[in-house]
Amino acid sequence: MKRRNFLQKAALGSVGITTLGTSLRATAATSKKAKTTLRSQTSDASLPVVIATWSVAQATQKAWQSLQEGSSALDAVIAGCGVEEANAKGQSVGIGGLPDREGRVTLDACVMNEKGNYGAVLCMQNIKHPIAVAKKVMEDTPHVIMAGGGAEQFAVSQGFERENLLTEQSKKDWETWRQTSKYKPIINIENHDTIGMLAIDTNGTISGGCTTSGLAYKMAGRVGDSAIIGSGLFVDNEIGAATATGLGEEVLKTVGSFLIVELMRQGKSPQQACEQAILRIIEKTPNIQDFQVGYIAVNKKGETGAYSIHEGFTTTTYQHQKNTISNSDFYNKK
Ligand code: ASP
Repeated sequence: MKRRNFLQKAALGSVGITTLGTSLRATAATSKKAKTTLRSQTSDASLPVVIATWSVAQATQKAWQSLQEGSSALDAVIAGCGVEEANAKGQSVGIGGLPDREGRVTLDACVMNEKGNYGAVLCMQNIKHPIAVAKKVMEDTPHVIMAGGGAEQFAVSQGFERENLLTEQSKKDWETWRQTSKYKPIINIENHDTIGMLAIDTNGTISGGCTTSGLAYKMAGRVGDSAIIGSGLFVDNEIGAATATGLGEEVLKTVGSFLIVELMRQGKSPQQACEQAILRIIEKTPNIQDFQVGYIAVNKKGETGAYSIHEGFTTTTYQHQKNTISNSDFYNKK
């Protein structure tokens, strides 16, 4: 599943959908010394709202419908992300995810709710819905993170079924990679498709979730940003929320989602905050040509923002009475 090549036209149901992608092209002009003017762009605010990384119309619509049916923002996010986790054709989250270099599909996911509670699973195998397990960790254990075999065992104890997550296609792709890769994980802008999703219900209650199979052909045991609080996801019900996709190592080193929420606390719009978090990575990393990172954010009013290092990042937004589909061409063309 390569979502970089969009624009995917999502079906417009009775609700509105806005698909926007914003990006900042990596050029010499965005080097350490370059000054980049931050643009102020936000969508019209209204509640409820669901925003997700990438063009995941079905997942976002599911979350939207769940909100209409009275689900909490958290359950809406879990239902939405679950759509992609169950999609065996998708090679980035849940079943069908591309494996690590040993051929094992290992999943990371987390959730965070309006009370500031958080739950996560890291490097979990054989369970298709890590985001639902993350909620169980948050609600039914005294812990916030469970990893590996322990996380899997916990999931099974909670009624989740073990199943083989390595599809024929992903196995085939892995075998091809093994023959040609010299055993190095792929670190480039093509391999980032984590689903991060943020939702606000009509009462203004904010929750979020993030789910991934991580970097394709990663070293066994590697964990990225997606399930780590403050990096792949952060929610502060007083302020807003942010989530990330892309090379987790760079998001982790800059604690990107927490940074975005703190910038919004200081008065930045979601768009400005996402742009600043991307600039933070650009300032600190010389080789931005080699990887992609994208952020999305929402504030308490329901304004949204999105930004990425490179062109090609998309987001899917459901917000009341909006009927536009667009690819914002928001990258630095200097
Ligand atoms: N952020 C994920 C990770 O580093 C990868 C991705 O977004 O595709 O594990």
